[in-house]
Amino acid sequence: MKRCLWCKQKAVIYMREHRLALCKDCYPKWFLRMTERTIKEWRMIEPSDKVLVAVSGGKDSLGLWFALTQLGYDADGLYLDLGISPGEYSERSKEFALQLSQRIQRPLHIVKVADEMGKPVPDLAFASNREPCSACGAVKRYLFNKFAVENGYTVIATGHNLDDEAATLLGNVLRWQIGYLARQAPVLPERVLGVGGEQGRLVKRIKPFIRFTEKQVALFTILNRIPYIEQECPFAVGAASLFYKDLLNKIEERSPGTKWVFYSQFVEQIQPLLDEKFPEPELRPCTRCGMPTTAEVCSVCRIKERANKLVAEVKP
Ligand code: SF4
Ligand code: ZN
Repeated sequence: MKRCLWCKQKAVIYMREHRLALCKDCYPKWFLRMTERTIKEWRMIEPSDKVLVAVSGGKDSLGLWFALTQLGYDADGLYLDLGISPGEYSERSKEFALQLSQRIQRPLHIVKVADEMGKPVPDLAFASNREPCSACGAVKRYLFNKFAVENGYTVIATGHNLDDEAATLLGNVLRWQIGYLARQAPVLPERVLGVGGEQGRLVKRIKPFIRFTEKQVALFTILNRIPYIEQECPFAVGAASLFYKDLLNKIEERSPGTKWVFYSQFVEQIQPLLDEKFPEPELRPCTRCGMPTTAEVCSVCRIKERANKLVAEVKP
């Protein structure tokens, strides 16, 4: 049995990639230290920033919200009620988010997708003719940004971990999705439109957990006794990202540390080159809603319009 390298108690985790064994008391301290180091290294949060955490009720986002408040950041939560009902998924995940909000005494804002968009995520995904996760992702990014702009938040923090990012990277590399690769970074800086007023702003987005694997985040959340929704979103079943995560775990098993090298070397060496060579097309305000987009009408307004059209066609 391994002993904690810091205090010699019984270890609860051995991280082969760091050659580090830690106990239940030292591991959360190490985890917070690493989070702070990532934030500082990437200049994710400045002292004047107002942080909005995208809270889903899962281990990553709740762990992130808890970690940020432990580190002394003023971070509020925003829970998007996606209206996913199989197994009462949305209702149950909201309960976990509310529990943490009470424990850390920080406000949790709740926005219902159906109130904003006229329909819940499953209906929007069906009407949009896109994969559910693609439509859902677009709607979530849009609503988080809109809420942040309207309420004076300057940073949106999401709980993406190393497994998420490495799987996304693998998927983008396999298809050589240059546009996505050029924009896959731990920090996406704020972008302001010359025209379009306040709505014409993309708030800075940060991923402070990119240094941790899914298991490491889960252990931090569990050791801090934060209950979270363990059930996967029903739409995640069969998603390619889960298959890529499995593959990367097998590679990691054979060669510890590969996942981090794959992701970090891309972010340090390749992404800046791609970003320079393939700059994002100029943003302009959506002619329907005023939010920044590269097209005349933004993708979310198009999803919304298709969903309404479908309802109008179905009605006698
Ligand atoms: Fe949305 Fe897909 Fe995530 Fe479910 S798994 S919450 S549909 S992005
Ligand atoms: Zn729009």
